Amino acid sequence: MTAYMDHKDLANERITAERTKEIAGSVRRVMDAVAEAERSSKRPAGSVRLEAATKTRDVGEIMAAIDAGIGLIGENRPQEVAVKAAGLRRQCAERGLAIGRADGGGSSAGTGVSAAESSAVADTAGTAGVRQSNDRQSPAGARAAGHVDFHLIGQLQPNKIGKVLPVVDTIESVGSLALAEKISRRAVARGLTVGVLLEVNESGEAAKSGCNPKNAIDIARRIGIMGGLHLRGLMTIGAHVDDEIVIRRGFEHLRRLRDQLLESQDPGTADCRELSMGMTADMAYAIAEGSTIVRVGTGIFGQRAFI
Ligand SMILES: *Cc1c(COP(=O)(O)O)cnc(C)c1O
Repeated sequence: MTAYMDHKDLANERITAERTKEIAGSVRRVMDAVAEAERSSKRPAGSVRLEAATKTRDVGEIMAAIDAGIGLIGENRPQEVAVKAAGLRRQCAERGLAIGRADGGGSSAGTGVSAAESSAVADTAGTAGVRQSNDRQSPAGARAAGHVDFHLIGQLQPNKIGKVLPVVDTIESVGSLALAEKISRRAVARGLTVGVLLEVNESGEAAKSGCNPKNAIDIARRIGIMGGLHLRGLMTIGAHVDDEIVIRRGFEHLRRLRDQLLESQDPGTADCRELSMGMTADMAYAIAEGSTIVRVGTGIFGQRAFI
């Protein structure tokens, strides 16, 4: 077990009113910054989704972000997903929201709640303030009615695939053919389909995961036709430097790869639209280069005490 998890109870659901207010204010500020970056790069309002990067944050903190309009959660570690999943599901259900994989990873038969029923619940919750706050704010908070998406954005050891498959709807951090094949096998065995982004190591930094950009097109094409996987786009972590030109070059290259895949019309690439790139520090550059998802941790929750 990761050491910091001994110091903080990540399943905790109760936070102070002060902390709730702090997170709500930060969500609003980051949404405004996303909207401003959309405007200044002449992109349509609402073309970028704000994903809360929630590593080391507890259920109470994550719910505060969701109540402030966040519709997409990104967890780094399968252990954290496992510890928080039940609390997040319950807290979301109380608000008329579903989170992550709707069927809980069982059969594809679903939960027994019809779409009409669940959207009726969501509508009630909306008038109770959840969606209202969302509408009032920038389009960056836009979420599908009644649903919070749940992604894995960190390294996935093959022996943890079973832990995350029942919970998350998309794995953004698939950086090799071997990992994709293992996820595919597990997903097919369970009779489910999981969204996948191919992670590309655009900066070439040794500490970063993700495939070599030279192999990205080939790997993406293969993922596109694997059972149990739905190729939804590409992901990268920006270069760890101060040079705007270097950072933007990596983002721009990822966008070109995405465009090339979309234009190829190869089987399984038609939905390869997402570009998950940009974090607290380099979000504006990423949006200028075409990002569709920015993953923000510090900007929403403050400095991390651990990691
Ligand atoms: C932690 C993390 C983020 C968010 O980083 P901040 O600098 O705190 O915004 C985004 N993406 C990944 C993969 C992360 O691990």
